[in-house]
Amino acid sequence: MKKKVAVITGSSSGIGLGIAKEFAKAGYDLMMNGLETNGAEIAANIAQEFKVTVLFSGANMLHAEQVIQMIQETETAFGKIDVLINNAGIQYVAPIENFPAEKWNDIIGVNLTSAFYTTKAVFSGMKHRKFGRILNIASAHGLAASEYKSAYVASKHGIIGFSKVIALEGAPYGITCNAICPGYVRTPLVENQIKDQAKSHEIPEDEVIQKIMLHKQPIKDFISIESVSALCLFLASEHGNLITGAAIPIDGGWNAQ
Ligand code: NAD
Repeated sequence: MKKKVAVITGSSSGIGLGIAKEFAKAGYDLMMNGLETNGAEIAANIAQEFKVTVLFSGANMLHAEQVIQMIQETETAFGKIDVLINNAGIQYVAPIENFPAEKWNDIIGVNLTSAFYTTKAVFSGMKHRKFGRILNIASAHGLAASEYKSAYVASKHGIIGFSKVIALEGAPYGITCNAICPGYVRTPLVENQIKDQAKSHEIPEDEVIQKIMLHKQPIKDFISIESVSALCLFLASEHGNLITGAAIPIDGGWNAQ
């Protein structure tokens, strides 16, 4: 049987990198992406470790033409895309009065609009082959708000709405689309936030972790990259065929409140 192919945006760091390893381990060929300058090297190491083909694109998710080119390169190289994981994301934390407009635009661009570009580009191929899995890495902040995160919370609520629309449009063609909503995962994105939150709230960093971040989670642990990756692999599998249009929390009970 022909190998399955996954495109994972923002996969040269953090959660995306974990997902890339999980899918490579399961035998998927990959298109990895991200802004890390050693992205191609990271991709080559994964290819070698898991004996799969891994391409890397440095496409900037803010630019539609680069995103479309990345999808076209993938289809040309592998002949198809089975799984699209929209994971690239950025954060900025500041009170609304000080929130820079360019940060707002970049966050909406990377976290939400880029998923529109990728999904639009993969959709007709998936429709034609009557199979597709689209996974959007949203956030617990797609389901609930926190102060000082106006753009991030708006983008993550938006991606959940977008996922529902694509689930409906994909339903007749074997295409599922879901949003995954993790609580805090200790990645570079969160390490930066700990610093920013400390500044915004004027408290030390260890207090940010205990009093602000894990405060909202009844289970007081960071979510592991491996747990998010395993959930993605499950949703991409044949057992995920009737799970669609869902916003799935993996947040230690945060959104049960
Ligand atoms: P990270 O900073 O470790 O990784 C983000 C990735 O996105 C990097 O590879 C980066 O290069 C890429 N990226 C950023 N801007 C890009 C652009 N313009 N074009 C292409 N790639 C770009 O962050 P992470 O924590 O692994 O976050 C991954 C996703 O998970 C994000 O969507 C984030 O919102 C979401 N998320 C993270 C957490 C968490 O606690 N870490 C929780 C919930 C959701």
